[in-house]
Amino acid sequence: MLMFNNLIDGEWMSDGARSPNVNPSDTNDVIGEAVRGTRAQADGAVAAAKAAFPAWSRATPQIRYDILKKASDEILTRKDELGRLLSREEGKTLPEGVGEAARAGQIFAFFAGECLRMAGEKLASVRPGIDVEITREGLGVVGLITPWNFPIAIPALAYGNTVVVKPADLVPGSTWALVDILHRAGLPNGVLNLVIGRGSEVGAALLEHPDVAAISFTGSVATGHKVAAACVASRPMKKFQLEMGGKNPLVILDDADLKVAVECAANSAFFSTGQRCTAASRLIVTKGIHDKFVAALTERLSGLKIDDALKAGTDIGPVVDQSQLDQDLKYLAIGKEEGAKLAFGGERLKREAPGFYLQPALFTDVTNKMRIAREEIFGPVAAVIRVNDYAEALVTANDTEFGLSAGICTTSLKYASDFKRNAEAGMVMVNLPIAGVDYHVPFGGRKGSSFGPREQGKYAAEFYTTVKTAYTMP
Ligand code: NAD
Repeated sequence: MLMFNNLIDGEWMSDGARSPNVNPSDTNDVIGEAVRGTRAQADGAVAAAKAAFPAWSRATPQIRYDILKKASDEILTRKDELGRLLSREEGKTLPEGVGEAARAGQIFAFFAGECLRMAGEKLASVRPGIDVEITREGLGVVGLITPWNFPIAIPALAYGNTVVVKPADLVPGSTWALVDILHRAGLPNGVLNLVIGRGSEVGAALLEHPDVAAISFTGSVATGHKVAAACVASRPMKKFQLEMGGKNPLVILDDADLKVAVECAANSAFFSTGQRCTAASRLIVTKGIHDKFVAALTERLSGLKIDDALKAGTDIGPVVDQSQLDQDLKYLAIGKEEGAKLAFGGERLKREAPGFYLQPALFTDVTNKMRIAREEIFGPVAAVIRVNDYAEALVTANDTEFGLSAGICTTSLKYASDFKRNAEAGMVMVNLPIAGVDYHVPFGGRKGSSFGPREQGKYAAEFYTTVKTAYTMP
């Protein structure tokens, strides 16, 4: 059995209470035991990160590059094993888990390169004889509070910050494995600390600690608002970045290639069991293609294999745990009560091993006012909303408090261009699944989905650094 311990100041700490890490595909399979970190351990991790910051922030780009590149190489070499761990603890299918592990390796390679590419600016002053230089510096101690569905992405180290990471207590294994790799790659003690534990204890300790300069949070809207309030109330105030939920629209127009539209919808709404912040949970379909699309999507869904995430050939794994399953079932009941028609699925499934299996569910006859079209369900449940034309589709797509990703399936350049321009979302896809994104370009949303600078790509520097303007009279 694996032991997921905390790393504080370069030491693995195993003391304290432990929680089992259970495989949602087979609840008899206990993957390991995670320590339940305490407030005192979180405080110790912050102190270690603070002490490590001066040296790490001044380390040469070559030193930082070498460590991040070494970690990237190991992640890529072990991607099958790491992907398997992720699938086993989280329930995404093995190809999805391996893909995500490979992506983590690529992100580290990208940010290793960013260490070498970080540049400033030198300008002539408006006053005679003076030079002006603009440089970027790390912030200090950064707290990373991450969710259970996307636990492995850390660009903060590249910019000279020191880090305390708190993964969701439900899936600590993948973050633990990543921290272990980085530690062995040669990060000095205290530069990266791992404190697994409850949000209300370890997360809250990071939010309240005056030596934490910034918080990068990924998770639900409700927790995101608590994080924001705590960062503003903190003295000194903390910089914060929030990546939260979505109710992402995928528009299907009459002129869409039906096959492309069905693949985009099946992938965006149901793969990863719909448990992606970028999942398309609203399928907004114009009336000319509506019936054909629903029939073709239903047929596609009936051919999908819902089973153990680790089994070859599984298309959709289980829901992550009992409470998420309860939430999905609750929304299935709400949808029916609201008058939507359950056109496919929604049955609790039994498989060889006991797990949280749910058949993908497709509602039709949904209006954009219904709760199933407005609230994030975070499961394999999608709502089809019939509209008259492109204009109504665009208004409907934007009629949401969220703004993470949005997609359109059309063969019309005119509509595709208009949608890219006018969709109120941080990421827009044309004739592509809306959940798949590249690792070297900005990731994030607007409106109620996100707050603060984007993650990933060179734009990540906007959050993880602060700018200094220096004036020199030579
Ligand atoms: P969550 O908000 O319950 O938890 C996220 C993290 O916050 C966990 O580590 C949790 O322990 C911690 N936390 C909880 N209460 C806290 C508190 N009071 N103080 C400090 N920390 C606290 O979210 P979840 O259920 O783990 O993840 C699912 C949610 O994450 C969905 O809403 C999904 O859309 C969102 N998500 C967003 C993105 C994105 O990039 N936009 C990516 C992945 C997931």
